[in-house]
Amino acid sequence: MKRFTLFIALCLTLAACNKKAAEYQAELFVFGTVVSLTAAGTDEDTASKAFAEIGRQFQVLHRDWHAWDPGELTRLNTALATGKTVTASPGIVDLVIKSRQMETMSGGRFNAALGGLVALWGFHTSQYPVLGPPPATEEIDKIIRSRPSALDVEVSAGGLTSANPMVQFDFGGIAKGAAVDIAVQILREYGIPAAIVNAGGDLRAYGNPGGEPWNIAVRAPAGGIIGGLEVRGDEAIFTSGNYQRFRQDDERRYAHILDPATGWPVEGVISTTVIAAEGWRADAAATALLIAGSQAFAQTAANMQIDAALLVDENGGLHLTPAMANRLKLVDSGAWQIFEHPGTNR
Ligand code: AMP
Ligand code: MG
Repeated sequence: MKRFTLFIALCLTLAACNKKAAEYQAELFVFGTVVSLTAAGTDEDTASKAFAEIGRQFQVLHRDWHAWDPGELTRLNTALATGKTVTASPGIVDLVIKSRQMETMSGGRFNAALGGLVALWGFHTSQYPVLGPPPATEEIDKIIRSRPSALDVEVSAGGLTSANPMVQFDFGGIAKGAAVDIAVQILREYGIPAAIVNAGGDLRAYGNPGGEPWNIAVRAPAGGIIGGLEVRGDEAIFTSGNYQRFRQDDERRYAHILDPATGWPVEGVISTTVIAAEGWRADAAATALLIAGSQAFAQTAANMQIDAALLVDENGGLHLTPAMANRLKLVDSGAWQIFEHPGTNR
């Protein structure tokens, strides 16, 4: 999962920050980011217990799903490379199954089996920017020619087996979403009627505190916000960007999101934002749409059963699906060249 730089510092100083709506908040440092939890329509004791349970479960996920610190995922990857059948926790099996689905639906753009390529590019680190030239073309081509795919992995009662020794899982594009979903499940189990789980701007929100929708800001790549969205019901909103984590040499920057078709970083797109029912789906789709680029983004969204998505290109273009155009309240519509992408078929 993303950048697991530090262990969780669970801060449970509960604050009733808004007396009227009785919102309780806590912050966790996990997955290399601050995860902020907000619960409304509940009492302090219940919120505190739910937050503590989320903290406990996130510590386990942080360890088990880490792409390069030794743990369950690194052990799994070592075993997959030998062709042996290896047991995995239900959480990892679930990520494999979801990753296969996202790979198929995205036309191969989302590919969680390219951990070897992510490592080759030097992106198995918490230190950004990564400095230096790109890896040798032969090394990149060697991995791409072997076509690692999550679909090479068979899931059976005995465990996981890969038909392709080059498969190395890296769930960096989907695990944060899956973790946010687990947090929401815990909050619901505690009977909390409205909450937001916000992992560094990627979030899932449900319920209507005080009868009002949650108002969510969509981040702008250069800082600030693009616009606002009202969340009614239960929705996840995730953004992928090529502007925070990258490799840099004298010539240019290389984004940390890699195109499985070429093995090279995405170009031309700054960020994508997706709304979906679940965090894992929004997370994976945002990553896939960045790779799809402005031409293929709307059809790829439709193929992934995503209605509302936006893409910011490097020329100041704001590309919107019709559902996103209907919902997004732009802060400054004059700041963008707006492209609506109608007529995509599911
Ligand atoms: P996100 O910020 O959700 O877009 O995830 C980016 C992370 O996903 C990277 O740091 C890699 O760990 C991983 N990743 C990079 N390229 C891909 C890809 N084509 N498909 C799936 N995951 C990827
Ligand atoms: Mg993602």
